[in-house]
Amino acid sequence: MARGLWLISRAVGRLRPLLVQGPTRSFSASAPEQLHVCVVGSGPAGFYTADRMLKGHEGAQVDIIDRLPTPFGLVRSGVAPDHPETKIVVNQFSRVAANGRCSFFGNVTLGRDISLSELRKTYHAVVLAYGAESDRSLGIPGEDLKGIHSAREFVWWYNGHPDMCDLCPDLKNTESAVVLGQGNVALDVARILLRCKAELATTDITDYALDALRGSTIRKVYLVGRRGPVQAACTAKELREILGLKNVRICIKETDLVTTPADEEEMRNSRIQRRVYELLLKAASAHGGNNYNDQKELHFVFFRRPTRFIPAENGSTIGAVQLEKTVLKGDEVTGKQVAVGAGEFEDLKCGSCAKFKRKSPEQRIRDCHSRKRLVRGRMVKERTNWDCCNKSSLC
Ligand SMILES: Cc1cc2nc3c(=O)[nH]c(=O)nc-3n(C[C@H](O)[C@H](O)[C@H](O)COP(=O)(O)OP(=O)(O)OC[C@H]3O[C@@H](n4cnc5c(N)ncnc54)[C@H](O)[C@@H]3O)c2cc1C
Repeated sequence: MARGLWLISRAVGRLRPLLVQGPTRSFSASAPEQLHVCVVGSGPAGFYTADRMLKGHEGAQVDIIDRLPTPFGLVRSGVAPDHPETKIVVNQFSRVAANGRCSFFGNVTLGRDISLSELRKTYHAVVLAYGAESDRSLGIPGEDLKGIHSAREFVWWYNGHPDMCDLCPDLKNTESAVVLGQGNVALDVARILLRCKAELATTDITDYALDALRGSTIRKVYLVGRRGPVQAACTAKELREILGLKNVRICIKETDLVTTPADEEEMRNSRIQRRVYELLLKAASAHGGNNYNDQKELHFVFFRRPTRFIPAENGSTIGAVQLEKTVLKGDEVTGKQVAVGAGEFEDLKCGSCAKFKRKSPEQRIRDCHSRKRLVRGRMVKERTNWDCCNKSSLC
């Protein structure tokens, strides 16, 4: 079910007259009012909302606007290029877009080309489904060093998102990349870095990213997680895929695989966690002995949290990540095991780092309170009435 934020407007009209020169729609007093809805954002949330609107309200007109010229949000710019099956959902969205009562307006940015108050005056309802496009900082020293990228930046880069085409991550001057996080997106990034380029060439990855990856000197990727193998945030399907990459040696410390009674309890309660742990255990024993010269390496680094990014000798690019060892403690409120620093530090050398923290939708909404708008060449604060948003669920 799609989720988003709803703003009910009393005014009647449509976006179209505001954006293109054309006749303004008028309504006769006797004709029943048609429901006109504007959906901001054409990702999954936007399209599922549009679909429900069209099916649930006979005669409803839905306009979808997006700041990009192309629709589908993160299905296009987030899902990894070697996961075409995940992108099949765009067929369903295309059917929604083909509905005569649905229109898509690309290249229209809420807060720049059109304000929320204008939309509210124009539509009966405005649904904000603009995703979560900004990153949260880790809040540790050295985060601005060159060579450190957020997952969003890196993924947008290899997927050809217009905002990140010029990212040019330096993949040539280092042997090692550190990926902070062990969720599915972290696995996507590690897989794209390590995967055989002939295989990647058969996907819809952008040409410039494929060229850069072909020239990459990165041989070792470190996936760093604050907690242990039982708590790794990825799913078994994604993990199995990366563990099966051709010509990649999997490195996991045996001591990290020792479980505690609390871990066993967690695995009894979660089949997914048990499956992930079993896969890591099997991979550790299977890859133990073999090592070929041209093999790449994927290191799972558990029980470590980043505390500082250390510059290389030139002072401006990343040279290493300082990690603090962690231990797991039961959280009194949630009952879950959380990582706490153990006060022991070590440096992990690298020339490239991807970090995984996205702003929550709640933070995005807070940011929008002070969203600035370009008015006749001046930056002004947009006067919107976001306080009156009613939150509903996200899909
Ligand atoms: C790197 C990555 C990989 C992922 N891989 C998978 C996967 O394999 N499988 C899976 O199920 N899920 C995956 N996800 C999660 C999934 O992509 C998201 O949950 C989903 O896309 C969220 O949908 P959304 O519609 O809320 O936001 P989005 O998909 O982000 O869409 C938001 C849209 O709003 C537009 N927009 C933003 N601001 C404005 C504005 N001011 N005005 C107009 N338009 C605006 C954007 O251009 C965008 O098109 C992944 C996520 C990421 C980050």
